[in-house]
Amino acid sequence: MSIVRIALDLPLPRLFDYLAPEASAEDIGYRVSVPFGRGTRIGIIIDWLTTSDQPADKLKPVTVILRDMPRLPDHWLALCEFCARYYQAPLGEVTAFALPPLLRQGKLPKAKKASAALGTPIAEPTLPPLLAAQQTAVAAIIRADSFQTFLLHGVTGSGKTEVYLRAIEAVLARGGQALMLVPEIALTPQLEGRVRARFPQARIVIANSSVSDAARARGFLAALDGTAEIVLGTRLAVFTPLPRLRLILVDEEHDASFKQQDGVRYSARDLAIWRAHQCNCPIVLGSATPSLETFYHATVSRYRLLELPERAVAEAPPGVRTVDTRREKLQEGLSAALISAITLRLERGEQSLVFLNRRGYAPVLACAACGWISRCLHCAANMVVHLADKRLRCHHCGGERAIPHACPDCGNINLQPFGRGTQRVEAALIERFPQARVLRVDRDSANSPKKWQALLTSIHAGEVDILIGTQMLAKGHDFPKLTLVGAISADAALFAADFRAPERLFAQLMQVGGRSGRADLPGEVLIQTEYPTHPLYQALIDHDYARFAKSQLDDRRTAGFPPFTFQALLRAESPAIEDAVAFLAHARTLGEHIATTIDENHLTLYDPVPMRMQRLMALERAQLLVESTNRPALQHFLSLWHLDLHSAKRPRTLRWHLDVDPLEF
Ligand SMILES: [Zn+2]
Ligand SMILES: [Zn+2]
Repeated sequence: MSIVRIALDLPLPRLFDYLAPEASAEDIGYRVSVPFGRGTRIGIIIDWLTTSDQPADKLKPVTVILRDMPRLPDHWLALCEFCARYYQAPLGEVTAFALPPLLRQGKLPKAKKASAALGTPIAEPTLPPLLAAQQTAVAAIIRADSFQTFLLHGVTGSGKTEVYLRAIEAVLARGGQALMLVPEIALTPQLEGRVRARFPQARIVIANSSVSDAARARGFLAALDGTAEIVLGTRLAVFTPLPRLRLILVDEEHDASFKQQDGVRYSARDLAIWRAHQCNCPIVLGSATPSLETFYHATVSRYRLLELPERAVAEAPPGVRTVDTRREKLQEGLSAALISAITLRLERGEQSLVFLNRRGYAPVLACAACGWISRCLHCAANMVVHLADKRLRCHHCGGERAIPHACPDCGNINLQPFGRGTQRVEAALIERFPQARVLRVDRDSANSPKKWQALLTSIHAGEVDILIGTQMLAKGHDFPKLTLVGAISADAALFAADFRAPERLFAQLMQVGGRSGRADLPGEVLIQTEYPTHPLYQALIDHDYARFAKSQLDDRRTAGFPPFTFQALLRAESPAIEDAVAFLAHARTLGEHIATTIDENHLTLYDPVPMRMQRLMALERAQLLVESTNRPALQHFLSLWHLDLHSAKRPRTLRWHLDVDPLEF
């Protein structure tokens, strides 16, 4: 018999056998159309066999093997198989997800009309000179002709991108392909411009979710057949097949957006490292504030540390200082020190940025008479006041309604917004500095790539004096006239329950501070705080990431947190919290049984607990943490446990998923 084993996009941890008399082992990696239920489905041939575990009369024949596209290569299937195994996801879900939508549907993109011929020869770009540390880094990366993980640690402006470009240049010269991952779509146009200017003759593929379906499929195929030399994209680009892959670059490797938070919960950075190992090529993780996991690997020499200590473009890093707000009555959140620093910038014709990581006007609307607050009906969260369009909005489920004229409970017409978001600070800045041009940059004002580009253009053109913005502004943009950054309301993250909150705060403040004082104007960063002596702020003042990271790692070692332990979360959601908790309690019993059959000493299964934000989109959520000091033991456990979970009885309305190496709790 001739049987093909197929991965189908279904939430089941198994593959499906079909009869295919014409098939052979040469067909592994082709897409295939098969009858399923009452319809047909597209899958991928994972294996070819002569016998099946299923009785032969139960097997259906395939509809057609789609040989109109090249086979998906072994290295690509191996990557998907690893992803499925490590993150405990069905292989069919991974392969479906890893393909561009058009190819997933069994289609092919229309051939693109040949673009205008490359007429005039393009002048060779002149390369900027390298600093000594850049030279060392470039040389080390180029020399590595086998698997090695580099941590390229360099502050904003230290010339990481130039190191990436030189490394790509060397790879292209040897006929290889390079893969570069960036955390956000918003960052790709700028980087794309630099890469295209440097490699005018190279075929560059952009892979992110804003690219049209046809273009994504064409890019995927160009990478697969080897005509594309550089693939640049967000986390999903890690699944691009590259037969001559010789270099992987992950910029801003610490960024949480490399971890997918729904569906297949993979980390693109971690998969990229596995991929580099698989194809035996170097990988460079770049960051000014590496994740503590990555930094730890560098301190124990598992990764090779490449430091870029100097700024390539400015003489001095920005001066950082704290503003003690304990005894000061702030004016709409702004201290006297910050106001006078902004005034000075206005006089000098320079730009200021007020950083506040909370959009909207105020986090909540409240009635002082009866205690009513603007709760979301579907989530355990408050609805945020958006005064600009007079709406209350939940930032978790997107639910919204008009701002009520009076308290819905007692009729009091004097409702008060509490706390402050970017819109409120924007209003305060306009009132305080009526002559200044104030611009707000957050997900509300920059809600499309076009608007975002327009905002960036007007900042660059010097049409703005004071910026108020969220972390959107913090990433990868040069604002030559920006010389002041004021961070307000940073303190909350110091004492958050999430053990990763300080790491994120440090990275954000370092990143946003890095926006100031480029070119030849010195920058200044003011952090308003009630804890001016906090070690996190002290390390920022000294620009000492390593000191901060080491103290955090000490804390994590003591507390038994990653990277000293490995974690997985089982989450359940259901209309009733009792159902979610009961399912998890049952899952725990199943898990404890498995643990006794392997080496249980390595494993801890905690009690099920409601999630910190228990209610989201009208579903109650609970979770169960599994922890181990041994990654293989945890992996072994999960591979058995998730099969039990799939067959465990549960109410129809209950959904569950596993999150391996979770970033959010
Ligand atoms: Zn009231
Ligand atoms: Zn909500």
